[in-house]
Amino acid sequence: MTTIDTDPDTGLDPLEFSVTRNLAAKSTTDRDAILANPGFGQSFTDHMVDICWSVRGGWHRPRVSPYGPISLDPAAAVLHYGQEIFEGIKAYRHADGSVHTFRPDQNGRRLQRSARRLALPELPVPYFLQSLRELIAVDGAWVPSGDDQSLYLRPFMFAKEAFLGVRPAHKVAYYLIASPAGAYFKGGVQPVSIWLSEDYSRAGKGGTGAAKTGGNYAASLLPQSEAYENECDQVVFLDQDRNVEELGGMNVVFVYKDGTIVTPQSDSILEGITRDSLLQLARDRGHHVEGRNVSLDEWRQGVASGDIVEVFACGTAAVVTPIGVLKGRDFIDEQPSGTLALELREELTNIQYGRAEDKHGWLYRLDA
Ligand SMILES: *Cc1c(COP(=O)(O)O)cnc(C)c1O
Repeated sequence: MTTIDTDPDTGLDPLEFSVTRNLAAKSTTDRDAILANPGFGQSFTDHMVDICWSVRGGWHRPRVSPYGPISLDPAAAVLHYGQEIFEGIKAYRHADGSVHTFRPDQNGRRLQRSARRLALPELPVPYFLQSLRELIAVDGAWVPSGDDQSLYLRPFMFAKEAFLGVRPAHKVAYYLIASPAGAYFKGGVQPVSIWLSEDYSRAGKGGTGAAKTGGNYAASLLPQSEAYENECDQVVFLDQDRNVEELGGMNVVFVYKDGTIVTPQSDSILEGITRDSLLQLARDRGHHVEGRNVSLDEWRQGVASGDIVEVFACGTAAVVTPIGVLKGRDFIDEQPSGTLALELREELTNIQYGRAEDKHGWLYRLDA
């Protein structure tokens, strides 16, 4: 068990996790075969973490156990009303073998904001951080060491109370699972084509757009199919005033001719930690950064006039992807290609993999 001191900010004592080892854990040979070509989200490590919550008992029964199916009552509220949230964060192996993650306090705080919106209990950030360390303590060997590889960590929380009445559940579970991830782009970063969703939105004013919740993803699947039918890789959503929101799971950033960087900001957009970090690196280089509304017209006209010189999307899974084409029902706009997106990508991943100085104190060691 890892030892963690009382948290100085919250005064919380660390949880005492019970650890049950997986007797059927993968052999080194089997694990290495998976790590040689992990793909994304298809293989899982040998263990998982869970912590229960109830109205009466608060957070309790923290466990590390063998990875496996969860037993749920068919009346569990999440299966009916979708009371669920999640996070996505990566663990990186550095050249000296140590394992680090990136700004996990931000993910912990975002999980709390999502919880508030979905009327779920807020997991204290120190417990969130401890859950990551507990899993790495048993599954650290699953953090791959290849180029651009990582262990994708997926924390999630859902309503498990068996009750069909409509109200916030009185029993909730927090889980953490992990899945080794390969380089997102094989053979170098490729620009993506984006389909403009006109008929469907992913979020509304006052809705759950700013929360990381499964329902937003469920709402994005049909428009995403429409994107595929139109030979596009991803879909971009607008708000009710035809301002650009984001892709199904990545934020959008515009680079202007004068070096200004603009990204849509509103309460229907998920605040990406990748975006926040890239924008900080851009500020460090002297770029002026603005969070504000960007209308579809501003985007299209900016590209046509040459005022916008680069457009890219960003998120934990793919880090940064340049946008090559924006396609709508009656137009195809080729997007300008620049170098800033890929330079910032390189700078960010160099910090994450320990190849560049971590000036902002963003790394958090998981294996010590
Ligand atoms: C997770 C997510 C992002 C990206 O956030 P990161 O913290 O950068 O991974 C963007 N949009 C949506 C809808 C998301 O769920």
